Amino acid sequence: MSHDTSGPSGPSKLVIRNIGILLSGDLGKPILDADAIVAENGRITAIGRAKDVDAEGATVVIDAKGGGLSPGLIDSHCHPVAGDWTPRQSQLNWIDSCLHGGVTTMISAGEVHTPGRPYDIVGLKAMAVSAQRQFTNFRPSGVKVHAGAPVIEKGMVEEDFKELAAAGVKLLGEVGLGSVKDGETARQMVAWARKYGIQSTIHTGGPSIPGSGLIDADIVLAADTDVIGHVNGGHTALPDKQIRCLCENCGRGLEIVHNGNERAALYALRTAKEIGQLERVILGTDAPAGSGVQPLGILRMVAMLSALGDVPAEVAFCFATGNTARMRNLDCGLIEVGRAADFVLLDKPQHSAGSNLLEAVQLGDIPGISMTVIDGVVRTQRSRNTPPAQTMAAVAG
Ligand SMILES: [Zn+2]
Repeated sequence: MSHDTSGPSGPSKLVIRNIGILLSGDLGKPILDADAIVAENGRITAIGRAKDVDAEGATVVIDAKGGGLSPGLIDSHCHPVAGDWTPRQSQLNWIDSCLHGGVTTMISAGEVHTPGRPYDIVGLKAMAVSAQRQFTNFRPSGVKVHAGAPVIEKGMVEEDFKELAAAGVKLLGEVGLGSVKDGETARQMVAWARKYGIQSTIHTGGPSIPGSGLIDADIVLAADTDVIGHVNGGHTALPDKQIRCLCENCGRGLEIVHNGNERAALYALRTAKEIGQLERVILGTDAPAGSGVQPLGILRMVAMLSALGDVPAEVAFCFATGNTARMRNLDCGLIEVGRAADFVLLDKPQHSAGSNLLEAVQLGDIPGISMTVIDGVVRTQRSRNTPPAQTMAAVAG
């Protein structure tokens, strides 16, 4: 396991060629007509046909061997604690395992599993600032973990949010996991957070573990968080009519998680599709949780939603990449010049009934990953967690 915190150590030029299927992460054009990407010093500088891009002076060349490439996957909902350790199921290296499942960016929905987590206001602010610093200073296996997400508690005032923002906190943890469980108080605090540039999410549905509570559609609508956290419950989902109400009556992010109700996930997806708002759909795992850690959780969601929710595979990949990047103002998640060079090289798994990557995913198979790249640096080669890919990308020079 590497403990890389930085991007490339010196000037670098990465060239990836022979890409068979180039997924953009953009719902507007999910497949690009290109077979090569160039990234300099960790940023995408060119996308096109190999003959047209400037590959001169490459420091690393990757041969995709005709396989697929996607932007690095983004887990919109996870619960990190300290480095690559989680006390939730006493696991080490769970983030590294997720990287082997294609996840290059994670967003904390609160460091709520921290043993002895403080509930007093001074303590919760200190913990948030500390977590933000820790995961900025230390990236487990290179994965970008956006952490430092305080859970709001009764008694917080506007000044607290101003202070958190000034200290570098950019996220709230799930509203509802603390003492604030009513719409009116939540709405006020979420508005203060938003005023100072802090994004918010909420725990939607029944209690997840002993100690948490029910958050129904009325509270979610009143709180007006930027993201409707696990609209499919975590695990216990709201009734269908409340899920429909959330889809139809606000424009906020519709987050679907692995550790939620799968039937409700499909219902939310179909409703978003019906109202023509697939750009609101983003994916998370909600791991670690009672259901454990799912290194392939995001890939499993992409395959499940594509296979059972009747969306093309290339569209389902957008839920885990470009949609999340746009909603959360991240500089990754899309294959565009200027974006971070975070990639997953993948293909249909060996012996899939599908003829290519997209068909395999639409049939519900989990793709095989042969490489991950973060900030233009190769982080992993053949995944230790996915089935083996039909074609294996290789470092050519
Ligand atoms: Zn939750």
